[in-house]
Amino acid sequence: MKRVAGLELAGRQNGDDRQIGRGKLFLIYLDHAATTPTAPEARAAMEPYYDRRYGNASTPYEFGQKSKKAVEDARRTIADTLHVQPSEIYFTSGGTESDNWALKATMEAYSGFGRHMITTKIEHHAIGNTCEYLRKRGFEVTELSVDRDGRISLEQLEHAIRPDTVLISIMCANNEIGTIQDMKAIGEIAKRKGVLFHTDAVQAYGQIPIDVAGWNVDMLSASSHKFYGPKGCGFLYMKQGLRTESMIHGGAQESGRRAGTENVPGIVGMAKAAELSFQRMEETASRERYLRDRMIHHICTEIPGAYLVGSFDHRLPGNLNICFQGIEASNLVLLLDEEGICVSAGSACNSASAEPSHVLKAVGLSDAQAYACIRMTLGRDTSAAELQYTLRTLKRLVKTLKKG
Ligand code: PLP
Repeated sequence: MKRVAGLELAGRQNGDDRQIGRGKLFLIYLDHAATTPTAPEARAAMEPYYDRRYGNASTPYEFGQKSKKAVEDARRTIADTLHVQPSEIYFTSGGTESDNWALKATMEAYSGFGRHMITTKIEHHAIGNTCEYLRKRGFEVTELSVDRDGRISLEQLEHAIRPDTVLISIMCANNEIGTIQDMKAIGEIAKRKGVLFHTDAVQAYGQIPIDVAGWNVDMLSASSHKFYGPKGCGFLYMKQGLRTESMIHGGAQESGRRAGTENVPGIVGMAKAAELSFQRMEETASRERYLRDRMIHHICTEIPGAYLVGSFDHRLPGNLNICFQGIEASNLVLLLDEEGICVSAGSACNSASAEPSHVLKAVGLSDAQAYACIRMTLGRDTSAAELQYTLRTLKRLVKTLKKG
């Protein structure tokens, strides 16, 4: 157990025990939207599939069929979390692949019907850059604006739908500002207008309840490493009957729709992590929400010029995005890192030539404001003590940066 400034940081991993900042040996991890640690239960479930049960799931003998059974059990577990059929779950390498597959294969498969799709200005690059690709191939993409909360206008969505619109792809929850869309209303419009509805639920799955049937979702992307599963694994839910075909050609895995030898340990670990996330969802979400709201209150009342970006009411439980007016967030991120605190700058990337985040610009921030934003995302192990320490550190560093 480590004591820092009078606070006990009990049970926290300290990365590689590297020496951080002023000789401190701890890590306060507030970047769970970037990735989560793999749950010990998921690691334990995966372990046998590396050495003792390494059979290829496509082989006919019993040793391989045991792997096949593990994959199919995992498929059922994941399907149960969404109340869908196991045959509607396709394993992929993660959120990026699922998003690419959903958009490219659907637009191609339905191109005889129409070449137009609708998305938003605040999607992850896995959607945004896929739309760019589609545009170059002659498809038309309408990007909906969002309000200051980061929510789309349902009227605008309805007006954007044309006779040749094939697909609506709108993320369930945003990765930068945590805004949750009105999924039920969007799905209702898509169904009424006869348009397919895909959602990038990479940040939402395992964090908040998802109602595939009630939201009329036709396709949904998720990524294991965002819900305490291993990296390099994810899935695409595809409603039965969709014409969408394979994007990766080869063997007959995943019902011939996604070729490649199955990542058995990854799939098993992801299913275990999904099961745990859904079991603990209510408890974790209410804890994170409580800690988040206290942290927002303290930061916004105790640090001059600091304010919350995005929605108060429609926000992922663990997400805070704060604009510290008058400072450069990239400098603050580096200084926090020296103190052993991991957070993310609001801008999309951190290189010297980084453009301000398209999400922060879309909710109406100026370039200077967008460059002053920090994203902190809590996890199931984040403690009040860690946040108190982070608050104290933030107060000190913001003051220093403003003077400098
Ligand atoms: N979509 C969203 C909303 C994300 O936040 C991310 C990752 O941050 C992705 C897609 C990509 O997922 P993956 O890292 O599994 O490729």
